This record gives sequence, structure tokens and C-alpha cells, in this order.
Amino acid sequence: MASFYISEIFDSIDGEGKRTGYMATFIRLTGCNLRCSYCDTIYALDREKDAVEVLSENELYSCIKAYPWKRLTFTGGEPLLHPLINLLNRLGQEGYESNIETNGSVPLLEEKLDGRRPDNVFYTMDIKSLSSGMSQQMRWDNMKWLGPKDVVKFVVSGDKDLDQMKKVIDEYQLDGEGHPLVYVSPVFGAIEPKSLVDYVKAHQLANVCVQVQLHKVIWDPTMRGV
Ligand code: SF4
Repeated sequence: MASFYISEIFDSIDGEGKRTGYMATFIRLTGCNLRCSYCDTIYALDREKDAVEVLSENELYSCIKAYPWKRLTFTGGEPLLHPLINLLNRLGQEGYESNIETNGSVPLLEEKLDGRRPDNVFYTMDIKSLSSGMSQQMRWDNMKWLGPKDVVKFVVSGDKDLDQMKKVIDEYQLDGEGHPLVYVSPVFGAIEPKSLVDYVKAHQLANVCVQVQLHKVIWDPTMRGV
């Protein structure tokens, strides 16, 4: 039976990505295969130790249904380390839209579904920056499954990370039609957001969206469950 190791479930605005500012239900699952230098969810890295509860698929489904929102954000940790497919299919058929926030180092759902994706699912996939210390862990094969509904996200600390972003954008031709949306945000407190705007302007990256993590602006940046 599928088990889900839960860090927290709550509702709030999406703080980043293409649904920024809209209410969603968040399901934070524990366990991550990476250890990024700037990780802000270190309380959810160890699957068993950090879980506050373990739910069956039906129990998690009921928790989700208790919230009024049709937008879901599965995050972590690394949510794709959990057996999500059946749950996503059920929810997708009921009109829920699921955002899977993945770290880019593990196979996407299509690998297990012969190239298919559960209905009403999109990915927000990190491209790990050099400063994360995890850039070598990227699974570049994932890029072939991403389309215009999906987001690739760069979290940057400085110029080297920005140059790496530009290289990836050029290599995968992400600055054009029919490709995933591209978002860049600063590691909180490590670089002025203005530097990102300057970079995007200087390199004429017309389709790169600069953003800050809205929840860290609205609330104390260390606050959980918001
Ligand atoms: S992938 Fe995400 S959850 Fe995992 S260590 Fe990196 S920032 Fe933290």
C-alpha cells in the first residue's frame, strides 16, 4: 500500500512560479536525495526522521479534499520520491491542478508511464545552480518531457549562477515559443533581486521572468506553513 511521509499540509498563496499569489493547498513530503547549500526546508530532508505523520493514499486524498482549493502544490523534500501517480490521476480527474516542484535530479513521471503524464499536472523543475553544490546531479534527460505548461526555475546567488542559467537557456533554446516558462529568483539574502533584472536586461532575455519568493516578503522568511 502506498505510504506518504508528510512534513506539513497547509493552504496559502503560491509564493513562486506561474501561480504566484493564488491560493493553493501545499503537500510537503519528506525525503530528498540532494543537499543544496541554500536549502530552506532542511526540516524535510530525511524521509522517516522528519515526517510528522505517515498517510495512506486514501488518507492523504481526504486531507486534500478537506481544503476548498483546486490548486495543489506537491513539494518537499523531493515529491517525486513518493508514489504519486495514482493519487495524481484521481485528483486530476476531479479537476485539481497539481504543481510538482521537483529538484530536477530524479526521473519525471513520464518515465514510468511510457511518456504519458497524469491529467492536470505540471512541473516546476529546478535547474540546480553551481552555488547549490548540486549542479552535477541534474538529470538533463528530463528536459525532453517539459513543455509550455511547465516551469524551469533557476535559484541564483551570483554572476556565475546567472551565466550558467544563460548557458542552459541557449543550449535548450528556452527563450522562445513552445518551451517551458523560465523563472529566476535570488537565493534569499545572497544577491540583490535588482542584479537579476540588470542581467536579464543586459542579455535581452525577453522570456525570463524575474521573481522573489513572495511568501518570504509577506511573512518572516523563516516562518513555516505559509
Ligand atoms: S532539492 Fe530542494 S529540498 Fe532538496 S536539498 Fe535542495 S533545496 Fe532542499
